[in-house]
Amino acid sequence: MFSGILAELERNLKKLPGVGNKTAQRLAMFMVSMEKKEALDIAAAIEDAVNTYRHCEVCNMLTDKEVCEFCSDTTRDDKQLCLVQNTQDVYLIEQTHEYKGKYFVLNNLLSPLDGIGPEGISFPALQRLVEHREVEELILALNPSAEGESTINFIGSRLAEKVHNVTRLSTGLPFGGDIEYTSSLTLSNALRRRYSVKE
Ligand SMILES: [Zn+2]
Repeated sequence: MFSGILAELERNLKKLPGVGNKTAQRLAMFMVSMEKKEALDIAAAIEDAVNTYRHCEVCNMLTDKEVCEFCSDTTRDDKQLCLVQNTQDVYLIEQTHEYKGKYFVLNNLLSPLDGIGPEGISFPALQRLVEHREVEELILALNPSAEGESTINFIGSRLAEKVHNVTRLSTGLPFGGDIEYTSSLTLSNALRRRYSVKE
C-alpha cells in the first residue's frame, strides 16, 4: 500500500467509475513515473474541462455554453422533448440518428428513500418548459429500473393533461438494464417502437 502523497492520489483516482484498488495504484504509480509535462497536461485538461462545463440553462445537460448546442439548434423540433437521465444518454440517442427533437436531462431518477423527490429531477423546470413550448410529444427515455419506472409513472401522470402524447421506449431494453450499455441498434429500435404511457 502507498502512503503520503501517492496514497492521496490513489484515494482520488478511486473516485472514478470502474477504478478499484489495483487500478488506482497502477495509475498513481504510472502518473508519477511518466514524463512530468504529460502528467501535468492531464491535470490541466481535467481542470479546464471541469471549470468550463456547466448545466445548460434550458435543458440541464452538461455543456461548455450557457445554452447547449441542442437547445439553440433551430432546425430541431421544439414540440418533441426527450427526457433522459444524464448527458451521456443524449449522445447515445444522437448516435442512433432516430431523433430530431429537443432534450431535457433529469440528472436523477425519483428515489424517495434517497431523498430524491420532484425537485431532485428538476420537475418544476420541466413543467414550465413543457407549457412554454406547448410540447406535443414527451419521450421518457429512462432506464427500465424500479426508479426509472416510478419516474415514468410520476411524469406521465403529472403531464398527461398538458402533453398530447407521452411515450416511453419499447421494452427491447432489458429490465434493470442501463441505456448506457445498450447497443446503438437496440436503442434505435426501442426509440422507433416507442409506445404511449397511457396504454
Ligand atoms: Zn440545452
